[in-house]
Amino acid sequence: MNERSIFNIPALEKKMYPEIGFCIYCGTPHDLTSEHIMPYGLGGNLELPSSSCKVCATITGRIEQTVLRGPLRPICVYRRIQSRRKHKDAPTKLPLEVRFGTEWETIQLPVDEYPLLLTFFNYEIPGYLDPKNYKSGVRVSGQYTYSFGPRLEEVIKRIGAKDIRVSQSYVPSEFAKMTAKVAYSMAVAIGQINPTMGRPKVVNAILGKTDDIGRWVWTVSEPRKRLKDILHFIGIERDEKQGLLIGRVQYLTDSGTPMYGVILGKLDDKFIAPVV
Ligand SMILES: [Zn+2]
Repeated sequence: MNERSIFNIPALEKKMYPEIGFCIYCGTPHDLTSEHIMPYGLGGNLELPSSSCKVCATITGRIEQTVLRGPLRPICVYRRIQSRRKHKDAPTKLPLEVRFGTEWETIQLPVDEYPLLLTFFNYEIPGYLDPKNYKSGVRVSGQYTYSFGPRLEEVIKRIGAKDIRVSQSYVPSEFAKMTAKVAYSMAVAIGQINPTMGRPKVVNAILGKTDDIGRWVWTVSEPRKRLKDILHFIGIERDEKQGLLIGRVQYLTDSGTPMYGVILGKLDDKFIAPVV
């Protein structure tokens, strides 16, 4: 695809972008805080100063917490990714449902002995490109599970259990919103979106004003790439063929996880117009 020009940003790079001076979500110039483009809990060190008001930061913070308290959390601890309080409140042991006989019970296992499973959703093509079949929310057509740490069978053998259950507690819509937030704030940071000219409609979905995050976010169907030495990947691309500005986000890139796409706006000669 020669039409693309891609801005690649390895998201673990430490970088402070120029101050914005208004909320990139609602526009207010008051009560501004610094935005971590990739959540800090995932090791994000890209910062966009004075770019999110406290009200919007509370909303996006809640989305991130919903996702990061799920299965991503032990992965982050496991990989010793930094977090706000340096994992002081992070568990060194995690609960595991185990069956030794007929009854299920919960035991505590150290994180490095824990069979970590991480599920990524497969979202269908964005409603924006498939308006006939899209109604609301996000359309999940499957999921991919990645295993980190010791294998399930090894753990079962070691603790002498008959069976174990690893719970998965992702919320598909919140994961999609978090991904959209990452792509949108990055596009603003590198000057590909100027929110004073209009904000993309995906922002309404991020803020929960509309229930249509699946209109903008999808799983890119292409061979999985493993990018060595890059923990997460964020790309912003100008897709001249489709006339769209598209964000691409891949978490835990070195594990060959799915790539997510986010429709951020229509390409214009001079600026990115909001998608209508
Ligand atoms: Zn705001």
